[in-house]
Amino acid sequence: MSSSPLPMPALGEPYLLTPGPLTTACSVKQAMLKDWGSWDDDFRALTRDMRRRLLAMIGDTAPEYDCVPIQGSGSYCVEAMLGSFVPRDGKVLVLANGAYGLRAAQTLDYLGRAYHVLDKGDYLPPRGTEVAQILAEDPMITHVLAIHCETSSGILNPLEEIAEATQAAGRKLLIDSMSAFGALPLDPGALNCAAFVSSANKCIEGVPGFGFVIARKEEIDASRGNSHSLSLDVHAQWATMEKTGQWRYTPPTHVVAAFLKALDLHEAEGGVPARGARYTNNRDVVVQGLRDLGFETLLEDRWLSPIIVTFFCPADTNFTFKGFYDSMKARGFIIYPGKLTVVESFRIGVIGQMDEHVMRRVVEAAREALTDMNVSCAAPPAAALEERKKLAA
Ligand SMILES: *Cc1c(COP(=O)(O)O)cnc(C)c1O
Repeated sequence: MSSSPLPMPALGEPYLLTPGPLTTACSVKQAMLKDWGSWDDDFRALTRDMRRRLLAMIGDTAPEYDCVPIQGSGSYCVEAMLGSFVPRDGKVLVLANGAYGLRAAQTLDYLGRAYHVLDKGDYLPPRGTEVAQILAEDPMITHVLAIHCETSSGILNPLEEIAEATQAAGRKLLIDSMSAFGALPLDPGALNCAAFVSSANKCIEGVPGFGFVIARKEEIDASRGNSHSLSLDVHAQWATMEKTGQWRYTPPTHVVAAFLKALDLHEAEGGVPARGARYTNNRDVVVQGLRDLGFETLLEDRWLSPIIVTFFCPADTNFTFKGFYDSMKARGFIIYPGKLTVVESFRIGVIGQMDEHVMRRVVEAAREALTDMNVSCAAPPAAALEERKKLAA
């Protein structure tokens, strides 16, 4: 693996051990120091180039798909995808095991689309057999929504078996790959996926401001008139871009310019495999280092994503999340609170402009933070380990 350290993101700034916004390269930030006319040919060329390069990342079936950028954060894209591709009389099976699955269900509520939630709780994976059974029992379901990496626990969901069950039942697959695309392989053709979404500020390491829908061209064609929303209508955005090269309504020009710089860096690094390898190495270094201090991960190794990892808070009563957070921040690292309902936890994101050298410093900072708090062992309470047993069951 890489041995020369990545350059510092910027002098004096803490590293963001968060799942986006995340630590970006200096050159990505510098790319924002220029104003662009949204109607100008130069900016249209940026948009065209960006759509082409994103499609190039999905593999051989790319010619069957198109890329439609949408202003806003990732949730705007999820809403645009659901509202545009699920017809008004459609019904969605939402596979939830965390906040983002539940948010998709809430979005469908707002849209007035019918849905059924398979809610696996905080972190258990939705399995192909469960999907097959629900689809067999409910012929009204037209679409299945899967979350690629559920960022709330960091679990990498089993997309292949979900896709297989969906295709076998003749339904359509939609994927939220927000926190995975760019670092984990995603071949929508092989998964027979109708559409998926991701955003600028996760594994491609841009700054926040827009996301994108990648959808089968025939799905985009067929989606005309479905959308509940003017500004989130994927078909209308696509039709305008195809015709004029422009976004409907003000594009986040500086963010797009920064994103193209981020795409340059992504390509120079070696594309999806190399980015995935760096993140995997980041994860392995931090997981091993924190385990050596006594910390335990929520998930077994087979479910750990190379994106973000949930750790249990130590049982030692001297430990507080706030104390740990402040101590880590004082050493230059912003960590992320956990989202488990049953036991206390925290999360460490391993994506962004960081490498194994940075991750070793994270482990060192955690060791010092424990000393600051007078915590001698970072082992979690028995209740946490009981909770984790559910995964094996
Ligand atoms: C980040 C993320 C989103 C979108 O969140 P925003 O805060 O709207 O950008 C959606 N799904 C997943 C899995 C995510 O990680």
